[in-house]
Amino acid sequence: MAVQHFTNSGVYFTCKKITMLCYRENLPEHLRFNPYIDQGYRPPMRPLQCFSSILTIHNETLNIYTHIIALILSISLIYTSPLREVKDLQFIKLCHVIATIIPWIGSIVYHTFMNVYGNKRYYNILLKADLICIWLAQYMGGIPVVSVTIYYLPSYTKVIIGVFYWAICIWGLYKVFKVNNFIKASRFYFFLPITIRMTSVILRSTSHGGGSQSALGYVVLADLSSVIGGIINASRWPEKYFPGNFDFVFNSHNIMHLLVLLAMYWMHQVNIQDILWLSSVQITRSNV
Ligand SMILES: [Zn+2]
Repeated sequence: MAVQHFTNSGVYFTCKKITMLCYRENLPEHLRFNPYIDQGYRPPMRPLQCFSSILTIHNETLNIYTHIIALILSISLIYTSPLREVKDLQFIKLCHVIATIIPWIGSIVYHTFMNVYGNKRYYNILLKADLICIWLAQYMGGIPVVSVTIYYLPSYTKVIIGVFYWAICIWGLYKVFKVNNFIKASRFYFFLPITIRMTSVILRSTSHGGGSQSALGYVVLADLSSVIGGIINASRWPEKYFPGNFDFVFNSHNIMHLLVLLAMYWMHQVNIQDILWLSSVQITRSNV
């Protein structure tokens, strides 16, 4: 089946091997987002060819497989978690399940089909879908932490914080829709929710905050790995200093994927402990 390629001069040519990889200069402009990755790119492909490329080696292979592993791991973590014993708190549990599973699906689809037809419009749709999934992970995933943190505060303070949190969520979503640049958008889907969670950690360190105390270390670990991953991705380290040497593995985006996987695991631990804490406190209160 013939595949269209782009050349330096913008002239198309075709080849019959879907496994044929190309150099950055052979790609359409919107797919050249990392100037330090020289080769290993898939050429523009049809959807089925993009899907088949999962079975070949190219410079998105590690990105796709790290998140396929993350998806399998997160489903098994959810399935085996003690949350199945918690009969109430359905909304908070749902937020945790969405935050744990959805981002991997968005990322796998984005990385697999990003070169479809070499079409910028399709690429932007896939990028938005991926960003929305990350938004869901960050903001829905933050709901258990915020809910338990404010548990002991007066009702009116809880309402104010709740309205503020949802306003920030909606503003973050609006920004994700508006910003087309993945790295520029990261401040809204990574750093803003992290700021909220770090504020929660500070409050939980005082007598005013609720939640499982043993979960605090995991919150810090999860957000630290997210921040380090975001910084590495934005700084293009290490390929910036060794261009062309990290085209297939261990470039900045690969490292970020691995760190985000770790962050997911730790956030899962945080949410499990917090939801169990909330359930036990509510049962204790109802028995008093
Ligand atoms: Zn990625």
